[in-house]
Amino acid sequence: MCRHLAYLGPPVTLSSLVLEAPHGLLRQSYAPLDMRAGGTINADGFGAGWYPAPEADAVRYRSAAPLWSDASFAAMAGATRSSAVLAAVRSATVGMPVTETAAAPFAHGRWLFSHNGVVRGWPHSVAELAGGLPVADLIMLDAPTDSALLWALVRHRLSDGGDPAGVLAGVVAAVATAAPGSRLNLLLTDGRGIWATAWDHALSVRTTPDSVLVASEPIDSLSTWNPVPDRHLVVARPGHYRVDELTMTGVP
Ligand code: GLN
Repeated sequence: MCRHLAYLGPPVTLSSLVLEAPHGLLRQSYAPLDMRAGGTINADGFGAGWYPAPEADAVRYRSAAPLWSDASFAAMAGATRSSAVLAAVRSATVGMPVTETAAAPFAHGRWLFSHNGVVRGWPHSVAELAGGLPVADLIMLDAPTDSALLWALVRHRLSDGGDPAGVLAGVVAAVATAAPGSRLNLLLTDGRGIWATAWDHALSVRTTPDSVLVASEPIDSLSTWNPVPDRHLVVARPGHYRVDELTMTGVP
């Protein structure tokens, strides 16, 4: 299963989170610790999203190549600082394409999104749910993958004015009902807050007085990481976070 992280706090380089941290996404791309039988390494692409200015839309870099093979990303990541970052490495689910556009983060305006997991019975299990989306959203899916469809569902509900916590809880409930056994760790940021679900996969949080980091696996061995209990939703801002229980009805 893919690995992802999101950070809010004082500006840091992309490389400090993704490449330099002892167990950052670079290490998690070839030696992840907690894949729970969902693949072995995360070599099917990667991506990072950030904000070039406090009020700016998100910018992202994605690739279908393994993170460790991209020297241009490494050079750029060392020279790029942001106070908000969302990044991911991908292990493609069997049957899904390995393309740049299937790698997280998925993006729209200030939103950045990632999915760690799998939708069981794809695509038929969620065809009815997908049928509720505008046709244009389906035509314009980033890629024919479960994660891209989850992003379309989330984005549509956000554009209807849903609050992010309720949107993620609602999408998890709808997909878990339609496709039992799915793994649905969703991660969303607008550069100011982070919303994340733990649904049958690993997730941890670490705060300092002025930052927060949410990650599939702790990126260092500092003892300040808190595991998120399964079937829970994290709502985080720099310096603090709360954890709510997820239910099959989608009400956090
Ligand atoms: N199923 C998604 C994909 O193929 C996510 C994969 C994962 O979490 N390993 O992109």
